Amino acid sequence: MEKLQSSLSERGLSVSHLPDKGRCLFTTKDFCPGEMIMSQEPYVSVPNNSSVVSRCEVCFASRNIKKCAACHVVWYCGSTCQKSDWKLHRVECRAISKLEKERQKSLTPSIRLMVKLCLRRKLEVEKVIPTAVTDNYELVEALVSHMADIDEKQLVLYAQMANLVNIILKWHDTNLKEIAENFSKLACNAHTICDSELRPLGTGLYPVISIINHSCLPNSVLLFEGQTAVVRAVLHIPKGTEVSISYIETAGSTMTRQKALKEQYFFSCACPRCIKLGKSDDIQDSAILEGYRCKDDTCNGFLLLDSDGKAFICQQCGLVRSKEDIKKIASEVKSMSDKASVLLNSGNYEEASLLWKTAEKLQVKLCHPTSLVLMQTRESLLKIFMELKAWKEALTCCRLTIPVYERVYPGCHPNLGLQYYTCGKLEWLLGDTENSIKSFTKALDILRITHGTNTPFMKELLIKLEEARAEASFKLKP
Ligand SMILES: [Zn+2]
Ligand SMILES: [Zn+2]
Ligand SMILES: [Zn+2]
Ligand SMILES: [Zn+2]
Repeated sequence: MEKLQSSLSERGLSVSHLPDKGRCLFTTKDFCPGEMIMSQEPYVSVPNNSSVVSRCEVCFASRNIKKCAACHVVWYCGSTCQKSDWKLHRVECRAISKLEKERQKSLTPSIRLMVKLCLRRKLEVEKVIPTAVTDNYELVEALVSHMADIDEKQLVLYAQMANLVNIILKWHDTNLKEIAENFSKLACNAHTICDSELRPLGTGLYPVISIINHSCLPNSVLLFEGQTAVVRAVLHIPKGTEVSISYIETAGSTMTRQKALKEQYFFSCACPRCIKLGKSDDIQDSAILEGYRCKDDTCNGFLLLDSDGKAFICQQCGLVRSKEDIKKIASEVKSMSDKASVLLNSGNYEEASLLWKTAEKLQVKLCHPTSLVLMQTRESLLKIFMELKAWKEALTCCRLTIPVYERVYPGCHPNLGLQYYTCGKLEWLLGDTENSIKSFTKALDILRITHGTNTPFMKELLIKLEEARAEASFKLKP
């Protein structure tokens, strides 16, 4: 740990222990918005391969990939990626090649991640894979596992998974208890690796990044460049401040966020947003985000349950809305969106879009205009319209989500930046150059902070903005 401290201090960081929080990462210098705080390669990682998509084990590319000729389980895009993975895959390959076809089906990403973790540790002991200050099994040992907080059912599941890992490894001295505990460590420490547009590609363990604690109002953001985890400041962070990122979707109400953190990470968040729980502005926020709207279409009030819990009352005009009325519409919406999801999974975008549109109309009557549920429906519709190349409808949907995004993702949030980017691309496609420049500029202002400026993704955004500006000046010429 001493070596880690000295390597972090070179970066203007230090690890401290706080009694109620455990390990925390603090700054020992100022960081400005957009500045990289730290980056780390995964200790182990796997792509989220399924029967539908497969990806290269190393770079997660999904095009022109080939199966490893020996095990027929792992994919590579070419010899460079295959060679860089060979030290570890050589032993993994031997183990999984011996499995029966039926058994190979049980090689889910989480089982594979654990197999790789066990193998990496062994290869480190045997000095086949060298260790580094930020890359060694000791750092994995230092991660919290929360074994005492896990319920019986989950423990049984972890034990079964450990057993499966044992069958794959066929070691005579496997410590099943330790593997089960490591599954619990992965559940609260592993990160979902996403591309620049936040689409999930795989899972990785980054033991130094795991030191960073959560806040629902974080001063930093964690994104990925390929498999490299990169943490950047989104606010000005003065010297002596704890670095924080968000572990969860921060758009939800305080109750929703706290539930998610308790269930997956076993702690009660005490961030500046969470300490407002139960106070009047937090109650109002929750009612707007996840509650219902006034029966009067022209009223923008939010509803709260009355004291005997039988009806909802508009806090602006006092109109009463019965629970039955709400239940009836809500169940209609649910059955429609369920049907739409089935259609979507079978690739029937046209019919799915019709159902989602009807669901959206009903939700407009049910939910507050800036409701999260309504926003999610519009996000689904946006995706479908993009698939259908229905740019006009897609743009309408995208624009409707922006005010809600601005509300729930204040400041420099990648989601808001990406939504502006989508908006700009649609405006550009539809020939609305002027607005596309505005949207691209808003996207750039946010994404240059969250994503840095050096990635191919950001270069593409800069080129698009340049093109739009060039076209606008061309149009201006007489
Ligand atoms: Zn590759
Ligand atoms: Zn193989
Ligand atoms: Zn919080
Ligand atoms: Zn009202």
